[in-house]
Amino acid sequence: MKLVTVPFFISHQGCPHTCIFCDQRAISGANGTLPTAGQITAKIDLWRSAAGGRSLEIAFFGGTFTALSQKIQEELLAPLQPLLEAGTLDSVRISTRPDCIDSGHVAWLADMGVRTIELGVQSMDDTVLAASGRGHSAAESLDAISCIKSLGLRAGAQLMPGLPGDTPSSSLASLEQVISAGADFIRIYPTVVLQGTELARRYAVGDFTPLSLGRGVSLCKLLLQRAMQAGIPVIRIGLQADEGLNAESILAGCWHPALGQLVRSQLYADLVSRFVPPGQQVTVYCHPARLSDVVGLKRSGLQSQTERGVSMRVAPDVTLTREELKVETEGLSIIYSIINDINYSIHEV
Ligand code: SF4
Repeated sequence: MKLVTVPFFISHQGCPHTCIFCDQRAISGANGTLPTAGQITAKIDLWRSAAGGRSLEIAFFGGTFTALSQKIQEELLAPLQPLLEAGTLDSVRISTRPDCIDSGHVAWLADMGVRTIELGVQSMDDTVLAASGRGHSAAESLDAISCIKSLGLRAGAQLMPGLPGDTPSSSLASLEQVISAGADFIRIYPTVVLQGTELARRYAVGDFTPLSLGRGVSLCKLLLQRAMQAGIPVIRIGLQADEGLNAESILAGCWHPALGQLVRSQLYADLVSRFVPPGQQVTVYCHPARLSDVVGLKRSGLQSQTERGVSMRVAPDVTLTREELKVETEGLSIIYSIINDINYSIHEV
């Protein structure tokens, strides 16, 4: 049964400096204060009653958890211990920087119920990391993933295509390296220019050109497909829209409130376009959970086929996987997959 994640945003807490692209207050909508033990247990109680019997996972996002003082880390994790022992809580997830990981500390976190550590890898290209003021190297990300895995925890990698100095090829190489290193899951956050950041200053004077939405969708499509081919889940594409992140706080870059859906829709549209020639009438079946992706935002998936001269109807089919489409034309019915039946070249991005 799927876990319900109870999020706590500890914006910027523990961070040794501010990365040039980061405004965690805008990203998370949180004000950067740490929750008290009472606030933690009250929020868990609230979420537990809404979880309908599903297991709960607590997540500390938005800062550098392992760089908080030992005392603060204990204060945040201590209220969870009785709940973990009682089985009320299933696990704890934290996010941190790759250069703030060591085996002794990860072992202690594991004892305190942490099962997943998400790393802000961002890129595996040292030139990009340096140009983005990250303050850590790609080798430190590899070491961190290896350390987390060797102690039996799950390692997640967050990647940011479109940072200064990044190219589609280096984004793809970054993805492939974190997959080879053993990352259990990935988040893809294309770079956006947030007001008040150093990146915004560089953008204003013409020193930084962000990915457009169109190029970002093309690149994310390719990255998502490569991750699917490797069997690694991409659990999020694009920063979440919330009260702190809006048209005013975002100056430029690849952002859309439903970026993940745009990317998946494009994959399905490409698959249909590849196998259904213009002039055909077609019924496309998909897994019920993918109906909205195949139809597309504001029916854009249907519209793009109409523009090609294809009349497309979409229907659910529970026998298909989420990656498959069954394409029916004039009595012919063939199942295709977005994982294996389209080939993208990085040079198309
Ligand atoms: S380490 Fe993460 S949370 Fe901290 S400033 Fe950098 S990007 Fe933001």
